[in-house]
Amino acid sequence: MTQTWALALHGGAGAIAERVYQHEEAHMAALLARGAAMLARGESALDVVTAMAEELEACGLHQAGKGSAPNAAGDVELDASLMDGATRRAGAVAALRGFLSPVRVARGVMEHTQHVLLVGAGAEAFADKHEFARVEDPASYYATAASGLASVNTGTIGAVALDTNGRLAAATSTGGLQGKLPGRVGDTPIIGAGCWADQRAAVSCTGLGEYFMRVNAAADVSARIHYAGQSLESAAASVIDDVRNLGGYGGLIAVDAKGNVTAPFCSQGMKRGMATSVGLREVKTFK
Ligand code: ASP
Repeated sequence: MTQTWALALHGGAGAIAERVYQHEEAHMAALLARGAAMLARGESALDVVTAMAEELEACGLHQAGKGSAPNAAGDVELDASLMDGATRRAGAVAALRGFLSPVRVARGVMEHTQHVLLVGAGAEAFADKHEFARVEDPASYYATAASGLASVNTGTIGAVALDTNGRLAAATSTGGLQGKLPGRVGDTPIIGAGCWADQRAAVSCTGLGEYFMRVNAAADVSARIHYAGQSLESAAASVIDDVRNLGGYGGLIAVDAKGNVTAPFCSQGMKRGMATSVGLREVKTFK
């Protein structure tokens, strides 16, 4: 008998209607297949979202990790977080400079400290102490990717999963908004805003982070299921309506404990992929 699992990935709400995202979609389809295989053979949701987010950071196709764009001072400052739904343990980093995989450092914060969020120099000292890999030459590492991403000012990547033991997890990582003020931190590393997982739902957001913070978007999906009895799909759509009504844009991916997945957005597009044990396989950028 097939045990239930589900996986969704996103590569950000910054997709522009005139562009073709063939390359990004092909990469996401291959990654989705890898993640689906991991879940099907019983790997944990937390390990799967970590691995998916790490590859989405490394591929340079999205505004996260290698694909990150600089802030107004020309520096790349990275935000990332992840959360394990079964235990509600979480880890996050913000305004981190010079490390290959911010989501791995976020997981390190969860596993090796009593804290949830480390920022700036403190996060970097922690990452060095635990020997997380540094970017060797930031100028060439980020510049290579940025050339292929002209005119994208939002991006972000994320992964949410339900594993065959019924556990949910979420991960989100970003370079933030292109040209942001130095020190600006968006929703991505804020547990509850850009990332959330509990026993009901796992959620990863993308879009104008200030709006996602103001509606506490990711946690509100689960709260709506819990307190208002909404379905996953209806809860997620309501949260995106809330963001739009405030004047923001973006989207989210979410999965619930039954293996439902949804990916609403109010931006032009959102690079995304979804796979489930009952046969859903979908990779899309626009509606
Ligand atoms: N939400 C991210 C931020 O505001 C950006 C994005 O998703 O594109 O930092």
